[in-house]
Amino acid sequence: MLSVTEAEAIILNLVQVLDSEKDSEVVSLDDADGRVLAKSVVGKLDFPHWDNSAMDGYAVRYEDLQNCSADNPVTLEVITEIAAGDRPQTDIKPGQTARIFTGAMLPAGANAIVIQENTTREGDLVTIFAAPHPQEFVRHKGAFYQAGKQLLEAGIVIGATEMAVLATAQCTQLSVYRRPRVAILSTGDELVTPEQTLQPGQIVDSNQYALASFVASNGGIPLKLGIISDRPEALKNAIAQAIESADIVLSTGGVSVGDYDYVERILAELGGTLHIRSVAVKPGKPLTVATFDNNCLYFGIPGNPVSALVSCWRFVQPALRKLSGQNNYQPRFVKAITRYNLKAGGKRETYLWGQLQLVNGEYEFTLAGGSHSSGNLINLAQTNGLAIVPMGQKLIAEGEEVRVMLTS
Ligand code: AMP
Ligand code: MG
Repeated sequence: MLSVTEAEAIILNLVQVLDSEKDSEVVSLDDADGRVLAKSVVGKLDFPHWDNSAMDGYAVRYEDLQNCSADNPVTLEVITEIAAGDRPQTDIKPGQTARIFTGAMLPAGANAIVIQENTTREGDLVTIFAAPHPQEFVRHKGAFYQAGKQLLEAGIVIGATEMAVLATAQCTQLSVYRRPRVAILSTGDELVTPEQTLQPGQIVDSNQYALASFVASNGGIPLKLGIISDRPEALKNAIAQAIESADIVLSTGGVSVGDYDYVERILAELGGTLHIRSVAVKPGKPLTVATFDNNCLYFGIPGNPVSALVSCWRFVQPALRKLSGQNNYQPRFVKAITRYNLKAGGKRETYLWGQLQLVNGEYEFTLAGGSHSSGNLINLAQTNGLAIVPMGQKLIAEGEEVRVMLTS
């Protein structure tokens, strides 16, 4: 059986990253949030766009105030007032100053700002009680960014901060990767939709909802193909269709060793190359990974709702992110102190779900209450991390350090 890291390496190696030309599209800034940049962005504007004042006060020539102090104040003539958005009309000459406000453009001739707290004003005259340094409180044109340099690199996900940067630089047309299409199908004769009335023995297909949310939150387009019966022909048709229509297929159920677990056989019949059959991980051991000639990457995931999500977080997420063009696709781990005993069988790398919290600058992990059966999805809600007990280890005791994978 493959270890988790071996399986991860195989999967990441199988991923065919979207093409930055063929698989990209141009979107307007309004539609860019959450998208992955396919081309680096280079701005055409310096930022700040002009020399401007960082404070409310007076724009001065520092030479006029070199010997200025509380004991030796200097009085200047206020010749104009410049508010944010104004274009200065007059130069500042020796003995003159301009009233200026935060963000307002610096007038020609001025080379420092005196904050208003160091002044008293009487009509057109202002008396100044402190000498400014040259360029004090001046934000210079191009100090933060110079036109022509790389502003944002390809492969980043555009979020709130990048939206602000792109807007400021007036980059309103962006080349982004298309969103990967991810087909989701739930196999199992026992499954019904949340709307259907349960008959004895049936179970609701929660995986379809969990996986669609997972895919969307990772930038993919979930194609919800619904519930597929365990009959081999139905399964084969549905899987064939999924492979044709998607970059990644996620099927849940039917990959164990039960009498109705046909997925692996069908993948082979459809011409797939099988790369992974099972991984030494708990939950989620019967993971099937296959590829097809059209580059489709197939994940056959165990049906248990917890196993399904843990498999997605651990194996599908990095693959989906890499495929979508993201530079930063590796899972994120932190070291935390566990507040509970973390028990494992020792034979497989074990993932236990719970809450990660920052307490006094240190991460603490609180195991979710209730059963840690892979069939219990109820206590999975509101968790944000998976504590990892390495293979060969049966206990990480309360108070000890544990590696935790972030899941949200
Ligand atoms: P399987 O992997 O098909 O053997 O399924 C393992 C367990 O997960 C069984 O108890 C199934 O009823 C359950 N299960 C399978 N698929 C789903 C699903 N889509 N949603 C919720 N539970 C499921
Ligand atoms: Mg099944």
